Amino acid sequence: MSLDILAIRKDTPGAESVLHFNNAGTGLTPGPVLSAVTDHLRLEAMIGGYEAHHKADLLYQDTYSAIEELIGAKPGEIALAENATRAWDQVFYGMKFSPGDRVIADQASYASSYIAMLQRVKNDGIVIDAIPNDEFGQVDVALLEKSITGKTRLICATHVPTNSGLVNPAREIGIVAQKQGVPYLLDACQSVGQVPVNVNDIGCDFLSATGRKYLRGPRGTGFLYVRTSSIDWVEPPFLDLHAAVWTKMNEYEMRPDASRFENWEGYVAGKIGLGRAVRYLLDLGPEQAFARIATLANALRSALRAIPGIDVHDIGRVKGGIVTFSHHKKQAQDIKIELDAQRINVQLSFPEWSRLDAETRGLPVMIRASVHYYNTEQEIDRFCHCIDQICNS
Ligand SMILES: *Cc1c(COP(=O)(O)O)cnc(C)c1O
Repeated sequence: MSLDILAIRKDTPGAESVLHFNNAGTGLTPGPVLSAVTDHLRLEAMIGGYEAHHKADLLYQDTYSAIEELIGAKPGEIALAENATRAWDQVFYGMKFSPGDRVIADQASYASSYIAMLQRVKNDGIVIDAIPNDEFGQVDVALLEKSITGKTRLICATHVPTNSGLVNPAREIGIVAQKQGVPYLLDACQSVGQVPVNVNDIGCDFLSATGRKYLRGPRGTGFLYVRTSSIDWVEPPFLDLHAAVWTKMNEYEMRPDASRFENWEGYVAGKIGLGRAVRYLLDLGPEQAFARIATLANALRSALRAIPGIDVHDIGRVKGGIVTFSHHKKQAQDIKIELDAQRINVQLSFPEWSRLDAETRGLPVMIRASVHYYNTEQEIDRFCHCIDQICNS
């Protein structure tokens, strides 16, 4: 079954007013998600916030069920979070490291993750092993395996980076992690909602994701997956009265499941909206969604390559919906100003957001055009026509 693009666009209030190629920034929210959020906000205003939560508790709980279904998790393995970074941090800062302990990172590492690693280099004396890419531009898994020593405490990998179409071989990394018995934390921020993700196929212990990007959920939402059998490898760096129970005057007990990584107060309407967004994707079919995204992105790459002076910078054996490029002469910043004026949404991709990859490949500031399944071939034509006009006339 292929996707009914017309119906999907009808469901997407923003699709008529903007040409949105910034889905790696925020996806355009579909109507049902928008209603789920606004309905709950209205309920809070009418009957009170706690009372509204109580009344909507089934919907709230369904967010967990929907995420479990989407990524193959079991009940108790999902913690809702305010974004992907905080979800990732819960694991990274929750690991006890001693001086000389080693953490594996990949070339696609996101700035926030690498900054956190550098902080722990400074404060805890850990060592980062940054694994080079293979000839296709993806993590060199054989090299990764060779670099594991008795001191390696964690493998951090990025499924899909912020700055290219690359889809890293997350599953092959998982096989190595399991064989070597090293905890595996996967940054799936750009992949969940874009690429079909199943934690059992991948074999990761922990996975972080966000709501607003390819899942098309509300801003300020995200989640963490924690494999039940791996939960004792980390201790949440923060505990509150939701994550733990104050059992006696001088004692507390952490919650037994992944909810120990959550905190009490949160964006209830957003979390309900996130669940609705996940259900929306489940209804369409994650495989179909990715097939469409990859097809559109490939069409966009080919069309861009045909424009004089344009360099497309994507790497990887498998490529997804993120397309990054620059022009020989015209600065990305100047291109973006002209696109903005035509209500075409893209994002600038700065070297400092993924410095390992950017420095290794000498990347400039790039235009990041990230497509979703609701984009169209006509939009690609219009976009490329505009780019040619802006750069070459
Ligand atoms: C956006 C992004 C993040 C951070 O997600 P937030 O929800 O903004 O915290 C992490 N990793 C990658 C690869 C990203 O693109």
